[in-house]
Amino acid sequence: MAQFLAAVPLPTEVLQLIVRELDPIALIALSQTSKAWRAFIRPIRHDFEQRLLALELHPDYGGLVPNWDEYYQKLTPPWDSPEWKTTKYACCGCMKLLTHMMFDNHAILRRHWRKPSVGSVEANKALRTDWEPFEPALRWQRIQDRARQAREAQRRWRRILDWRRDYLLTNPPTNRFEHRALSPTAEEGDAFRRLIGTDRRRRRCVECQRLSGRWGYPRRSRPAVANSRQLKFQSVWERFVPGLLEQLTPDRFPDYWRCIRESSDGVYLTLRVAWCDECCTWQEWAAFRDWRLYGPDYRAEDSFPPLEHVCVKCAVRPPRDQEAEARRVQNRILTFLRDSDTAWRLGFGWRWVREDLNNQPDGDKIRTEVLDGLTLEKGRPGYLDQVVVEESNIPDLRRRLLRYRDFVYNEVDEETRNELVSSWFKLWLDQYERLEEVYFLQKRLIQKLEKEPKLILNYMLERDPYYVGRASYR
Ligand SMILES: [Zn+2]
Ligand SMILES: [Zn+2]
Repeated sequence: MAQFLAAVPLPTEVLQLIVRELDPIALIALSQTSKAWRAFIRPIRHDFEQRLLALELHPDYGGLVPNWDEYYQKLTPPWDSPEWKTTKYACCGCMKLLTHMMFDNHAILRRHWRKPSVGSVEANKALRTDWEPFEPALRWQRIQDRARQAREAQRRWRRILDWRRDYLLTNPPTNRFEHRALSPTAEEGDAFRRLIGTDRRRRRCVECQRLSGRWGYPRRSRPAVANSRQLKFQSVWERFVPGLLEQLTPDRFPDYWRCIRESSDGVYLTLRVAWCDECCTWQEWAAFRDWRLYGPDYRAEDSFPPLEHVCVKCAVRPPRDQEAEARRVQNRILTFLRDSDTAWRLGFGWRWVREDLNNQPDGDKIRTEVLDGLTLEKGRPGYLDQVVVEESNIPDLRRRLLRYRDFVYNEVDEETRNELVSSWFKLWLDQYERLEEVYFLQKRLIQKLEKEPKLILNYMLERDPYYVGRASYR
């Protein structure tokens, strides 16, 4: 110390003042430059945590600071934007910055665990350290005192935000689906600035949660699976083998039909991260042998045969049967392709076409052209009559459809048109060609998979697109 003081000709008090102006990252960096600085600063765990939380907000290390709008329930940028790929979050359990996939949704979206944006109270803590020139025990005492005071203040701010939630609960909207978002007041905005990210040091990654017994301890009693992001995919098979199979450009892919929203331009599916007992890694659930977790009837305790929480990579190691595993994973994708409802959707609208033409006085003009020879099979009870679509009758159906579409859009008056064309029928009529394209795409993909029986397995083994993280044994 004496040597150090001799090298830096400044009184200790001045040095202390300078150190107090550093940010948490620089404080630790300085403490690691020499024994003398280390003895002078004497960093405690709190300082390392503050450094990690500051790194999380640094664009070079933590990447993006997303914005989650609680009132409108909207995330900016959305999960599927490229920025998310490099976004990292801090876990003060294992003291690491980890990919966001190592955290469940709560750890990222809950108010007190979210990354605070610039200008908020928590973000300002990354600008200047709270280091003080005291003994570690006294420092720890003062840190705890400050935390206690902060918790009391936060309780008051939380009450302001709770008022809004209670108001919405006690004054329900008259229309069930009405969106009751109200813009936050200035006071509420202030409350957000004080509350977001205040408890980030308690955020834990899935690995720390596993080690602390979230899924049973000391032995795991249930599968270690955590819900991750919900992403938009063009098709269900794309979610399981991303980037492998041919896709259509968005303008050629039909919208999905939905109940309330009527349509959406993709299918929203939740990713999950799960733990493989054999290779001790966290991987996206698509890497696993068993996908029953996705079924509506999933109940881990009574599923039979028991769920196999082993990833496919482990499942093909000798002496296990690689050929059988290849068939298994291939069949899963083939099932999606074969069970898809595209053929049903192609045949969907003909019942309404028949009804329209029979009821419309103008319908006589084209009835023979469109309906002659068209057979609608009787649907199951409760189901509508359907045209059974096969590859052979697609050109004929297309000819009939084009004629009907021409009639509806060019030969009837606007009022009749609005009456005839609405809701899913409109989607069917307008996007019929796109549905056909998907039908043929699925045929092509089925043929491709049947021709190359190891395509899916090789993709899983070679590209390994599901890896999330490793075990961190402490
Ligand atoms: Zn951790
Ligand atoms: Zn494995």
